[in-house]
Amino acid sequence: MVTVTSRSEEQDVPPCTGCEAIAMELSAYFDNELDAAETAQVKQHLEHCAVCRKKLEGMQRLRDGFAQLAMHRVAPRRSILQGLLRLLTRTN
Ligand SMILES: [Zn+2]
Repeated sequence: MVTVTSRSEEQDVPPCTGCEAIAMELSAYFDNELDAAETAQVKQHLEHCAVCRKKLEGMQRLRDGFAQLAMHRVAPRRSILQGLLRLLTRTN
């Protein structure tokens, strides 16, 4: 018998114990908002948990993406505006 199961794309790593507790602190860890003890706890978990490492990686990528978006979107817009202003002041 062939059973067709449509699985989600994330089927590689099973969740480990303690992940939920760490997930709560992961964003705070990422923002350096945890105290030394909590930071050590998260680090220890990350060492043996690929799932949470991936989550952290995802956060990093997201932040990098936003930073790049901000750079690429805001900067050209400003230069376009400046270019337009220059054109306007010239023709006037
Ligand atoms: Zn974990």
